[in-house]
Formats: sequence, C-alpha cells, structure tokens
Amino acid sequence: MAVLFTGIQPTGFLHIGNYFGAIKNWVKLQHEYESYVSIVDYHAITVRYDTGSMPHNVFEMATGLYACGIDFDRTNLFVQSEVPGHAELTWIFNTVTSIGDLERMTQFKDKSKQNRENINVGLLDYPVLQAADILIYKGEVVPVGEDQVQHIEFAREVSRKFNVRYGDTFPECKALLTETPRVMGLDGTNKMSKSRENYIALFEPEEEIYKKVSVAKTDPARKRRTDPGTPQKCNIFSLHGLVTSEEQLEEITTGCTTAGIGCLDCKRVFVENLMEVLDPIQKSYRDYSSRKKEVKARLRENAEKCRAVAKKTIVEVKQRMGLTPVFSI
Ligand code: SF4
Repeated sequence: MAVLFTGIQPTGFLHIGNYFGAIKNWVKLQHEYESYVSIVDYHAITVRYDTGSMPHNVFEMATGLYACGIDFDRTNLFVQSEVPGHAELTWIFNTVTSIGDLERMTQFKDKSKQNRENINVGLLDYPVLQAADILIYKGEVVPVGEDQVQHIEFAREVSRKFNVRYGDTFPECKALLTETPRVMGLDGTNKMSKSRENYIALFEPEEEIYKKVSVAKTDPARKRRTDPGTPQKCNIFSLHGLVTSEEQLEEITTGCTTAGIGCLDCKRVFVENLMEVLDPIQKSYRDYSSRKKEVKARLRENAEKCRAVAKKTIVEVKQRMGLTPVFSI
C-alpha cells in the first residue's frame, strides 16, 4: 500500500471548510493508503500562540478528527512534536536547500506580511519541515488544496536533490488535489478560516449556525424578496453544493431566478441539509470527548509507531551521508 501523509494545525476546533475541503477526503483515502495524519504543532509555533491553550487545542483536534471518521485502526493519527525525527530530518534537508528557494515561497511572503513583528527562521523553513514530515515516512501521496501545491513541488525537489547527492533514498511525492474546491467563508470573499471569523464550526449547535447563515451575504441583486437572483453569484448557493442534492439545487435555481423563494427559505434548506451531515459527526464528537483516556492512549501508541518508522529512515539517511557509526537514536 502506498504511503499517504497529511497534516493539520491544532487550531482548537474544526470548521466545515476543514471537513469538506480536506478531512472528508482523508476519511475516504484511509481505505486506499497507509495513512499518516499529523497534528502539526511544530508548524503552529512559527507564529505567536498561547502556550496554555496548546495541549487543549491538540487534544480537541484529535477528538474532532476521530469524530469526523478518521479511524482508530486505519490511520496513524499522531502529534508531530512527539516524533523527534521530523525535526532531525529538517536539519538534514536544510543542507540541501537554498535560501533563495525558500524566500520565493508564496506562503512565506504572505505570512511575513501578516507577522511583520515575528518573521522567524521557522516561518522561512516551514516548507523544509513539511518535506521532512512527508519523507520521513517515505510518503508518496499528499492530499492538499491548490494553495499547497507549491510546497509539494518543493518537497519533490528536496527528494531529488538528496537522492542525487547521497543516492536513491526518498520517493518523489505527488500532490493529490481534493475534488472539493476551496470552501468560501460566510463573508463570500475569503476562504473559510478561523482567523477571518467567517466560519461555521463543525460542532456548533444548529441554532447558532442558522443565526450566522441568516445574516450571510447573498447575491446583491436580491435586495427585495421580489427581486430575482443569480445563484452563481451567491455564496450560499456554493455552500449548498456541499450538502444539497442535484434535484434540490435545480429547484433552488428556479426559485432564485424567478424570485419564487426568498433567501431565508433557501438558507433554511441549506442549514437543514448541513445538519444531516453534522448531526452524526457531532454525536460522535460527544462520544469521543467522553473517552479521553482512550484517545490519549491511542495518540501515544501511534506516536510510538511513527517514532519506529522515523528512526529507520534516519538511520538509513545517516548511513548514506557518512554520519557513521550510527548510534542508537
Ligand atoms: S435564493 Fe438562495 S441562491 Fe438565490 S440569492 Fe438567495 S440565498 Fe442565494
């Protein structure tokens, strides 16, 4: 079975953009690949963060992922900082990476603008750690959104450079683009994200979700109930695409373009359909939240398994690089 690697930052909670844009796909792929899903806390510390909240955020992320369908037995879900090999391989990869390549990364440029007071080396080195995350497990497939394709290309380049200098060691990983396009936030202009506060959280109660959705922007042409609209210009319609059947989408299209339905009716249908997906996930979340010990034990076990695989790779790498004798690590 080919190896799949992916990571998610411990933001403290999940929103529907995370679920439909990534996690739903990981749940499907865990049946086709040997899957590693990492809660990437070493990536999260490249920006300022609250140390007191970190353990809670990590645990919440693990609980949330299990609730979404990440399977205890099919996926190695683990916390990145529990496996020291990631940082060790990063250092090694740093020596085959040019600073110019890192400075050209779009995400580095964006994050540097957003964090002018804290442009640290970790922010610049982020793609190298990402390459190490994938390659320490000899990952071949990385499910990502379009905004991460540049980083996967970078990881392939790292593999190539290492292999040319030290001999064939790492595979050239491939980006597996998710079928769902990026999920837009309720503001209708930006990708759904925690920082922009334009999200629907995965574990939010239905009333809260409806409150947010009811004031979300729609097609600006629909100023009055009697004004016809164009669904393709409306973000609510694109969100419908995540949960609504083709048949109902056709009805909405007709209702919207003829002013046969109002936006609030349309939004209500969206929330109802969304809750059909979220209800079982929320139930499962409550279940996993009451089994904290079990979740923690599983994370510990998985980290152990990952450390064993990582150790094997590091030993091989050190041997190829002439860093011998290889002591026990
Ligand atoms: S009826 Fe629905 S699709 Fe049409 S503008 Fe209103 S919310 Fe958007």
